[in-house]
Amino acid sequence: MNPEYETICRRILADDRDLVGVTYRKLDCGCMQFCGISPQGATLGCRHHVSGQPPTRNLEPLVCLKCRKDDEFAVERTVDKGIVWAANPPGPEVQAQIRLKILGPEDAD
Ligand SMILES: [Zn+2]
Repeated sequence: MNPEYETICRRILADDRDLVGVTYRKLDCGCMQFCGISPQGATLGCRHHVSGQPPTRNLEPLVCLKCRKDDEFAVERTVDKGIVWAANPPGPEVQAQIRLKILGPEDAD
């Protein structure tokens, strides 16, 4: 995984010690979404990370035009996704359940 994503995931985990991990999803435009994972396997506190866009001169917040056109975070444009576990992760069985719930069967190996 890109070390930049891992840094963001680690920061989210450091913010909330109750999280068991962070799931990330990258779109074809380069934008990413990060969500904390609760011990019950629910996603929470999702945040959007806009990247791959050149900085604007007039200090407007960076907006990805592709994502602005989509009302919601466009999961159908996903090119990469995964989970970064906390330093103290749940057991393998629980991890498998959470992977299945969050990533779907095709990535829950
Ligand atoms: Zn985007």
